[in-house]
Amino acid sequence: MLLLTLASHSSLQILHGAKREGFETGIVVSTKRESFYRRFSFIDNFYVYSDEDQAVDKINSTSNSIFVPHGSLIEYIGMERVSRIRTPIFGNRNLFPWESNQTKKMKLLELSNIKTPMKFESPEDVDRMVIVKLPGAKGGRGYFIARNKQEVKEGIKRLLEKRLINNVEDLIIQEYVVGIPMYFQFFYSPVLQRVEMTGIDIRYETNVDGLRRLPSDLRVEPTFVVAGNIPAVARESLLPSVYEYAENFVRTTRDIVPPGAIGPFCLESVVTDTLDVVVFEFSGRIVAGTNLYVDGSPYSWLYWDEPMSVGRRIGREINLALQKNRLNEVTT
Ligand code: AMP
Repeated sequence: MLLLTLASHSSLQILHGAKREGFETGIVVSTKRESFYRRFSFIDNFYVYSDEDQAVDKINSTSNSIFVPHGSLIEYIGMERVSRIRTPIFGNRNLFPWESNQTKKMKLLELSNIKTPMKFESPEDVDRMVIVKLPGAKGGRGYFIARNKQEVKEGIKRLLEKRLINNVEDLIIQEYVVGIPMYFQFFYSPVLQRVEMTGIDIRYETNVDGLRRLPSDLRVEPTFVVAGNIPAVARESLLPSVYEYAENFVRTTRDIVPPGAIGPFCLESVVTDTLDVVVFEFSGRIVAGTNLYVDGSPYSWLYWDEPMSVGRRIGREINLALQKNRLNEVTT
């Protein structure tokens, strides 16, 4: 069987893991990036495309294959094209539209009894420090922090002038939660019927994370463009509540977006000084922060006494499902 993914994001990890689990591997890659991916011996097949429609055709041309989606899939080829993928997808494809809609997304978190930041419908309602976000996974580009409604309005004006947005309604205005970011990575196994924590990371964002290098009088406005990831472990006393969040999330998605979360997901959080975990975003697919743990994380070793990346864990789940004739429970 062939495991296939789109180049970029966590594709190296996914295919490296798939190979370790004994699968044939394939990458769907643009002509521009092909030569980079040719360097890696664990990639067996190349499906090279020159435009995004061709990418979908190439995926659909494979047989006896499973396509593994990652966090950049929709950003690269667009929701409409993704919906045209006929190859079985590892995970729940019905979650994609929920992930691309910020209101629906936060609703799933709230229904799971997960603490979330306060949301403001209009700049006029703002009564505290907020972060203003652009829709879609743009890697934090264009986000800004505002101390009050006046600054929100000024910031929106700048975004409109720079044509970074067309519609003010698309913006997300969220309470800025003071604390430290922690991204809790999980994996729900329908075959083993359990949630595993696969790791924790912190996003390394320019320039908000670089500002501490400067004396305070030289500091500029923070921006939130993700450039990499840093590993983290949490105080063990935080783990019971984040596991509860994760298990609630799996139950809620099962009820609201059947068949529910399958495989990797991530609760993107800020931990406050009262040790509250406030989740401002989730990802229903593999996040790039899992790339830290190609040889397993301090958490994956608690379940698997062998190196287990999330990429490999996906391959393992497919293998377990194949053995039990339950492939339809892990793909959609
Ligand atoms: P996102 O695109 O929602 O993942 O946000 C990008 C970055 O903005 C995060 O990695 C955090 O550093 C920061 N951030 C987002 N939302 C909040 C929030 N409500 N409070 C504090 N920081 C946030």
